Amino acid sequence: PSVPDMEALQHEDVARLLPVPFASSDKYRRGVVGVVAGSARYPGAAVLAVAGALRGGAGAVRYVGPATDAVLARFPETLVHPGPPEKAGRVQAWVAGPGLGDEPGVAEVLASDVPVLLDADGLRDLSPEAVRGRAAPTLLTPHAGEAAALLGVERAEVEAHRLWAVRELTARFGATVLLKGSTTLVADPDGAPVRANPTGTPWLATAGSGDVLSGLAGSLLAAGLPARDAASAAAYLHGLAARLTSATATPVTATDVAATLPRAWSDVT
Ligand code: AMP
Ligand code: MG
Repeated sequence: PSVPDMEALQHEDVARLLPVPFASSDKYRRGVVGVVAGSARYPGAAVLAVAGALRGGAGAVRYVGPATDAVLARFPETLVHPGPPEKAGRVQAWVAGPGLGDEPGVAEVLASDVPVLLDADGLRDLSPEAVRGRAAPTLLTPHAGEAAALLGVERAEVEAHRLWAVRELTARFGATVLLKGSTTLVADPDGAPVRANPTGTPWLATAGSGDVLSGLAGSLLAAGLPARDAASAAAYLHGLAARLTSATATPVTATDVAATLPRAWSDVT
């Protein structure tokens, strides 16, 4: 039988993917996610990425970067470290880039031997060689503008040819790619069917919602999900959370989406 080009996850598929703690679990076995995000200019991106990561089911979240005070004020359960990332202690997956500006850390996490998610400023000037040589999976999560910059084409080109764009990025970088948009697409370098996320809502078109998604997907990577599953389950929960919160009250903020992730999780499982 031929392999279909595209597929969409459903509730049951996501329920099977989500990590659930068992009697002998400890926080390290559930996974530790490291977040390299935020800057003096964009401290809120660090808070939102950490919020997504804490709601993603990992056992612990380590934050490395300059927004420590803001992160701890909102999420005292976060383990913070002034940096650099390689000194932060045990981490099973890294998320790097949201609101990072020119702060360091991307090269350091790429040099690690654990899964890495790059978003936003973590995608700036990224070369295929920096990703292709990695032994562990890399997940790139661009929106159309970031995808266009990575491909060296106009944004309109990506918007008109989204399936081409996500596959082309996957081929060039040898990485799993989640292309954000009204229908978020996830492509994998092994040629598995592209996944189209069915839960999106335009209420997600709000500042900071991508930062929540990056932390959430990173947390699922740290829990041990393959990059394609981590990305597509995260997009599913993220969209569902936005839908659930918009059913009660609109407009929706990124903080609302993060706060509704547990309801989305419960809805699915
Ligand atoms: P970012 O551009 O990094 O802030 O991420 C925005 C998030 O909102 C991504 O998860 C997008 O898929 C989602 N999003 C943006 N616009 C829309 C839209 N019109 N419909 C559905 N989802 C959207
Ligand atoms: Mg973004």
